[in-house]
Amino acid sequence: MKDFNFKVPQTVEFGMGSLKKLPSILAENKSKHVFLISDRGLEKIGVVKRVVDIIEACGVQITSYLDVVPNPTVDNVNVCTAAYNASGADYIIALGGGSPMDVAKAVGVLATYGGKITDYEGAHVVPGEITPIIAIPTTAGTGSEVTASAVITDESRNYKLSVFSYFNIPKYAILDPTLIMSLPAFIAAPTGLDSLIHAIEAYVSTAASPFSDAMAEKAMELIGANLRRFVANRADEEAACGMMLGSNFAGIAFAWARLGNVHAMSHPVSAFFHVPHGTANSIILPTVMEYNALADKGRYEVIYNYIKEENGVTTDFTPSMLIEEIKQLNKTLGIPASLSEVGVTADKIEVMAADAMKSGNILVNPRQTTLQDMITLFKNAM
Ligand code: NAD
Repeated sequence: MKDFNFKVPQTVEFGMGSLKKLPSILAENKSKHVFLISDRGLEKIGVVKRVVDIIEACGVQITSYLDVVPNPTVDNVNVCTAAYNASGADYIIALGGGSPMDVAKAVGVLATYGGKITDYEGAHVVPGEITPIIAIPTTAGTGSEVTASAVITDESRNYKLSVFSYFNIPKYAILDPTLIMSLPAFIAAPTGLDSLIHAIEAYVSTAASPFSDAMAEKAMELIGANLRRFVANRADEEAACGMMLGSNFAGIAFAWARLGNVHAMSHPVSAFFHVPHGTANSIILPTVMEYNALADKGRYEVIYNYIKEENGVTTDFTPSMLIEEIKQLNKTLGIPASLSEVGVTADKIEVMAADAMKSGNILVNPRQTTLQDMITLFKNAM
């Protein structure tokens, strides 16, 4: 067994209605002025107001930035950082899916150390602690509330850059499953699959440890049992709790075990063609699972038993059964079967493959991958 270290350096509050913990967290930290980062979709359905009302009721001043876009951009980060700096706030609250949470991390870095977000691109460039963040996820999801990454799209080069630093991990995560119950099915499905893919990629990663395995296995158990139910009925409380927790555990697993070729490939797909993150990952997953099957050390069977629709443990497993199960799961949840169906064009395969090869996730993918392999993977996913 390889050496490993592990820490979960934050407080996680879980529970139906756990938003009510926000006043005590603000009081504990003597916060007088918070800066809320969210998006217009959440404003429209009243989720932003729910949080603003709680903050105002405890006499804490609030300034908001609500213009985060999906696959958030460098421009988003710059405008939001200027607003944060002008506000005089002492704490950031990130309310939303991965997009507002990632912008919050990037703003936390720039507000503390200055410069441009591209100055911090890559792993471990952030020099120290950043502005403290309370993350409140509303999708299940990216797990960004417990991860070290901020993923930001640099539109000038059609590139999703990652700022990876353990200093980015929010100080608090409030997991309130009532918040994900407003998700429409067409967002619940790809975001839920995204969380499953985090668990799967962390589980087969060459950087996996017994600690990340424990998190990834529990995540697969929870998501496997609840994803179909949750997409069918987001008002199903038990399924919402299972998904919220599963997404969080998957986030902890991949914050330390990292991901693999699926995420390396999906970033350029989203950067060039604006495909939602979870949708891009879900379409690519069967292709990468087929490719990685050659490196399987028996983990495919474990994954299969967690996610398959039928009950009971399989005794006559072959890797193709897992790949078929994933394709069927995608189909059941309304995910397109190929990248060409979401507008990806073949003329960008070479440049997307070159960008995918820049991802640190390639290094921990279970099967080694060359640029030529990557081009073939993109062609297969088309
Ligand atoms: P998102 O944050 O982009 O939100 C997508 C849409 O869902 C938005 O329109 C939003 O208004 C809506 N929405 C969110 N919560 C809702 C709710 N409860 N009810 C109704 N609508 C709701 O989606 P996402 O998939 O959570 O985040 C994707 C982003 O996260 C990508 O940029 C991706 O690269 C990034 N990501 C980051 C990490 C990380 O570790 N930092 C991990 C995975 C993905």
